[in-house]
Amino acid sequence: MPFQLIIAISLLALTPLAQARLNILACEPEWASLAREIGGGKVEAYSATTAFQDPHHIQARPSLLARARKADLLICSGAGLEAGWLPILLKKSGNGAILPGKPGHIMAADHVRLLEVLGSVSRSMGDVHAAGNPHLHLDPRNILKIADVVKQRLQSIDKANSGYYQQRHGGFVKKWKQAMTHWKKRGSALRGMPVVVHHRSWVYLERWLELKEIAALEPKPGLPPTSAHLAKVLKQVKKSPARAIIHSPYQRQKSANWLSGKSGIPVVKLPFTVGGTPQAKDLYGLFDDTISRLLAVDG
Ligand SMILES: [Zn+2]
Repeated sequence: MPFQLIIAISLLALTPLAQARLNILACEPEWASLAREIGGGKVEAYSATTAFQDPHHIQARPSLLARARKADLLICSGAGLEAGWLPILLKKSGNGAILPGKPGHIMAADHVRLLEVLGSVSRSMGDVHAAGNPHLHLDPRNILKIADVVKQRLQSIDKANSGYYQQRHGGFVKKWKQAMTHWKKRGSALRGMPVVVHHRSWVYLERWLELKEIAALEPKPGLPPTSAHLAKVLKQVKKSPARAIIHSPYQRQKSANWLSGKSGIPVVKLPFTVGGTPQAKDLYGLFDDTISRLLAVDG
């Protein structure tokens, strides 16, 4: 037998071991990133959306369905963020392990205190987030809470590696807490900074850094900006000026540019999630770069 062939067969024999990693399907990049922090080499994490896709609206394409079929653990934001596509994906996948109520099903919103929980009436008025604002990942304290849930679920699904997840989680918590102290210190210069947002996807960041949201370009979360509403926002910022129009990579920039042109307020693109800017390579980069870009507004 030729030597190369022996090597090839040996590699094939090793393949099942390499594939023994847990498959994690995240709805958004931040949760895939968190899964990698806690799961390390024992998991394979895939995100259904990228930073350049609107997590409220994606197509449940066949490749995604294949990922859902073989997933051991699902991690999403919840609170209705994925209401337009996740239920269909779960149903079609036929994968009982990641259904609600199972250890393989994590909705981050179930584990943190949500902001802006509205009544059912608001949804009929066009608000897509009546169950509460689901963009909870931009408060690093929430990341810490979900890290704990991810650790517990990994330990429950993959008992053999329980100690490994415990250790990875411990290391992450220590490093994350240090980073949070550092961010809070750097971000203190941003306290009270008035901003305009496109969609209300920054409320958790605003609360944590004490930014002041003056207006949103969307008349209601989920409704595209109208000229009548934009005119109102322009009037508002003329009365009470904002220092930045915050924008995320997946949003169309037309309305933000219009307001910027009329008011002179700069459009500031923030990563919003992991991968949104070249610097936001992981969760640490996400917060580092968000703060850097906000600090640069005055620089
Ligand atoms: Zn939203």
